[in-house]
Amino acid sequence: MSEGRLIVVSNRIPTEAAPSGGLVVALHDALKERGGVWIGNSGKRVDAEETAKGLTRIAETPYERYSFDLTEEEHQGFYLGYANATLWPLFHHRTDLLAVDPDQARIYREVNERVAGLIAEVVQPGDAIWVHDYHFLPLAEALRRRGVRNRIGFFLHIPFPNPSDLPALSERKLMPGWLSAFDLIGLQTRRDVSNALDFLRDSGAEILLNGRLKMGDRRFEVASFPIGIDVDGFIQAAEENADAGEHLRLSPGERLVLGVDRLDYSKGLPQRFAAFGEYLSHRPDPQIRATLLQIAPPSREDVEAYREIRQELETITGRVNGEMAELDWTPIRYIRRNIGREILAGLYRRADACLVTPLADGMNLVAKEFVAAQDGADPGVLILSHFAGAAEQMEAALMVNPYDPGETARAIEQALSMPLHERQARHLSLMQSIREADIGWWTRTYLAALQKPLASPGN
Ligand code: ADP
Repeated sequence: MSEGRLIVVSNRIPTEAAPSGGLVVALHDALKERGGVWIGNSGKRVDAEETAKGLTRIAETPYERYSFDLTEEEHQGFYLGYANATLWPLFHHRTDLLAVDPDQARIYREVNERVAGLIAEVVQPGDAIWVHDYHFLPLAEALRRRGVRNRIGFFLHIPFPNPSDLPALSERKLMPGWLSAFDLIGLQTRRDVSNALDFLRDSGAEILLNGRLKMGDRRFEVASFPIGIDVDGFIQAAEENADAGEHLRLSPGERLVLGVDRLDYSKGLPQRFAAFGEYLSHRPDPQIRATLLQIAPPSREDVEAYREIRQELETITGRVNGEMAELDWTPIRYIRRNIGREILAGLYRRADACLVTPLADGMNLVAKEFVAAQDGADPGVLILSHFAGAAEQMEAALMVNPYDPGETARAIEQALSMPLHERQARHLSLMQSIREADIGWWTRTYLAALQKPLASPGN
């Protein structure tokens, strides 16, 4: 089967000619190699007449990049509302935070209809369409209704919800139709695949062999493709910025524990700070100084739950520092700004341990970046939550239950006193796992699976 063009659809689209960031670069490279079109939201807000103009070309590269704009109402209903205040909490197992708002649900579907119309204008026979993330669950169904018969793949970057949580979604009955309109549903982990299969089976799908499913007249496939990073790029950035830790002016012998996250309630930050406080209170030698450097820029602050988590974190930081700080030592340093990727790589390399302790996370790329950035001769230790998607691949990390501050505190103690040979052995094994499935592997494997010819009836 000859390869047609690739059409990538993602919520945000890079505007610069040579974009940065692991996923963005991977998609950019795939499009450069194969030719095609990238369609995404410009981030601009315009009035309704402007949106009627359709797609805007934003870059002349070996492939085309087109953006669409949203109105303020669409930004509120589609992006902040249904995507980030309904689907995001549900998919991260936080039904307690889920917003139920029929207007937002309607706007979400309308935006998907509009985007489907824009895609239908550019798609050609033989093109493969690759849709990214929870913003576009109904997109394939909307395209099928417009007569688009191309291969359409979906990749969900966040966890698949627990089937027992899905009844909390008012649109749950629409989900099987949304999902089965894709040809390939890519998920991060085996756990996600198992949740998706349970949900689809309960919704009437027949499970065939190897993750293939049959639902009505649709045949489609569900499989896991754990996303990776640009390992060599990170190694290089970390080596070139190995002195980045000097900015911190740590005192001699001071240990550095690092956390790097978007400020989100799924990242387990209050529990992490409490665990660090507990480690400090119980550390065997009070002379040991360890500092937690937490880099966590706020995100989605127009959503209530995000304002709350920020306040909660500032309160805990104040409490731990108030109790523990000394004239020349602040135990928790909390930075709310974005740090450039280069400096970040250098800070990873300087850190003695990295706390990646989400309560739920599709993959968590910070875990992989931290490992890539280490000096193999004297590597730091990764402390990783069972609930990060990365845990399925990174078994040589120190695994913790992030809900239990005592357990995480003991892991910090273990990490900071771990003998060199054990740190090296764990690091070697972790490097192997991130190299086996790096970002190039991810794009190649997914696209190869998407390209497979349609299953013949009956199999
Ligand atoms: P999520 O996609 O939920 O934010 P991931 O860990 O999978 O979580 O990806 C986060 C990405 O954002 C990583 O590549 C990480 O390097 C980057 N990142 C996170 N926090 C910061 C920060 N403060 N400054 C710069 N980059 C950051």
